[in-house]
Amino acid sequence: MPHPFMPHPWRFSAALIWLALISIYGAALAEPVPSPKVVFVIVDGIPADVIERVPTPAIDAIAAVGGYGRATVGGPIGTVGETPTISAPGYMSLVTGTWANKHNVYDNYGISPDYDYWNLFRLARDQQPEMRLGIFSTWTDNRTVLLGEGLAEAGNWRFDVVVDGFEDDESRFPPRPMDAQISDIDDVVSREAGKLIESKGPDLSWVYLQYTDDVAHEHGDSPELDQAVVDMDARVSFIWAAVRARQKAFDEDWLMIVTTDHGRDAETGLDHGGQSARERTIWIATNSQRLTPDFYATPEIVDIYPSIASHLGISIPEQIARHLDGASFIK
Ligand SMILES: [Zn+2]
Repeated sequence: MPHPFMPHPWRFSAALIWLALISIYGAALAEPVPSPKVVFVIVDGIPADVIERVPTPAIDAIAAVGGYGRATVGGPIGTVGETPTISAPGYMSLVTGTWANKHNVYDNYGISPDYDYWNLFRLARDQQPEMRLGIFSTWTDNRTVLLGEGLAEAGNWRFDVVVDGFEDDESRFPPRPMDAQISDIDDVVSREAGKLIESKGPDLSWVYLQYTDDVAHEHGDSPELDQAVVDMDARVSFIWAAVRARQKAFDEDWLMIVTTDHGRDAETGLDHGGQSARERTIWIATNSQRLTPDFYATPEIVDIYPSIASHLGISIPEQIARHLDGASFIK
């Protein structure tokens, strides 16, 4: 006689079938988790007062979904972390989440980045190797020098989608008065970014548009700079349209961040590099609906790195996290 508590073989298999049915049914009902995706856009050298005064419908549309706020660059003044308000040091602070005393980029050329402070792309490739990484850029050094793509000392990782190199292609973009070929390159870069983001949906992308800084170095605060900002905004609209198209067609959760790398001097707007309030003041527009109060408390450019990692669901390993100079403004 079987033990009274021993399940009858028939009942046992019926229970297994029942369990299997429940789990199939449960899986079908479970909320699918949308894939997190990020595109961050750096538009060069646009002071906060300029972006707030000039009509920028695309950036306004992004901010209407999430938020817009002023932020700072340049690091803590008078300490080792003080960082020149120059382009490449600013990009490096964004992509490594550290100030120049760590990433070691104090100028645009003749630099030796310290690759021990892992950039966002290396972090993503290391933590989630299947991620597709993209760069769309008017300045090739962003990929080859600052990020160190393909360099052994920078971790020997690669992008999946690359659109850059145009500024060295003088047959396609011959030099024009006022460096207008750079405006043409921004146009191609942003259109290609829009097309490829819509068709391929890379998980993490950097778009870099340069021309606004060129115009400001030539004209300072001027109608010409205002027009360059209007043109930039039209280019950002290609990327914003791609993000919206992806969100409509796929179960994806897109974070878009648009920011600048530094302001300009208060007297003329021609220059930057110092630590004046206008040079240090930048801005961030984003569609994120998970902004914390920190976003509205003048965050720093180094806060963007952990915010992007947070959106992507990447937990930053302790040996990287302990060197970061910023904190996430995204829940
Ligand atoms: Zn710049």
